[in-house]
Amino acid sequence: MAKPRVLITGGAGFLGSHLCERWLAEGYEVICMDNLITGAVANVEHLFSNRDFHFEDRDVTEYIHVVGALEGVLHFASPASPIDYLELPIQTLKVGSLGTHKALGLAHAKKSRFLLASTSECYGDPLVHPQSEDYWGNVNPVGPRGVYDEAKRFAEAITMAYQRFHGVDTRIVRIFNTYGPRMRLNDGRVLPAFMPQALKGEALTVFGDGSQTRSFCYVDDLVEGIWRLYNSKELLPTNIGNPNEMTILEFAKAVIEITGSRSKLEFKTLPEDDPKVRQPDISKATRVLDGWEPKVPLHDGLTKALASFRERLLALGEISAH
Ligand code: UDP
Repeated sequence: MAKPRVLITGGAGFLGSHLCERWLAEGYEVICMDNLITGAVANVEHLFSNRDFHFEDRDVTEYIHVVGALEGVLHFASPASPIDYLELPIQTLKVGSLGTHKALGLAHAKKSRFLLASTSECYGDPLVHPQSEDYWGNVNPVGPRGVYDEAKRFAEAITMAYQRFHGVDTRIVRIFNTYGPRMRLNDGRVLPAFMPQALKGEALTVFGDGSQTRSFCYVDDLVEGIWRLYNSKELLPTNIGNPNEMTILEFAKAVIEITGSRSKLEFKTLPEDDPKVRQPDISKATRVLDGWEPKVPLHDGLTKALASFRERLLALGEISAH
């Protein structure tokens, strides 16, 4: 019997590549579509020998065509770090809006399930803490993050419209800060900034006074939550993340400890509209996803991420293997 097939847009990105692995492991044929502006073939190269894996270098904001049946479309294509939004503002807006429209159109035509990668950025700089799904957010539409936040809010709106008007079977995951192996070295997010700095003995660049908070989820916990959401009947947005909240200063210290580095801290200007706090309320996810909750402690997750950063920096000759 033919295996079920899914299309994963952004499949060569950090999260996308982990999703490709999981869906293959669950017995699926996976079509990974990516235009590689922030994704990388290196993230999925190890899957090329798997006959159930197919890679297509394609821009999902253009018309997308897939031959044959599709059980699901997982729309994960998007630049996803604050410096990417500054460098790729139009592409960020296009993939969240036009790309989501194209991916939904395909799901509608193929009668596929559709899962949208949304974000905690929908809550903006939140006035409610922790953030639960019924909070509508505090987003600056014209600030530097507006291109991402508003595109994702539009993406949620059009996903709900396709569900209500066309009857497409949709899911929406609001993803909170996630980390793990294969984060792009130069993507500017806090872990890909701190870990190489710590490994090279350079100062860790803490933005502002480091009192802003984030809550970091290891990628395997996130993927488990997304797998369960895909297989659930939950049609409204669902937060997936780790509620273990800490200040960026505490996070910097955790990175220094895990790397055994002697790096100091260097305080830099806080970027505009940088959210002051962020912590997911995951009570809904735990309720509707069969008791799902994150399992990987920060120390274990950072140890796994460290191996990935170290390996790549060694290959680039940026650190030595003393
Ligand atoms: N941050 C930092 N130093 C860096 C990069 C980021 O202090 O070199 C801070 C950033 O200001 C934010 C937090 O770390 O408060 C998380 O930033 P990231 O870009 O990872 O994602 P965000 O949660 O802001 O989308």
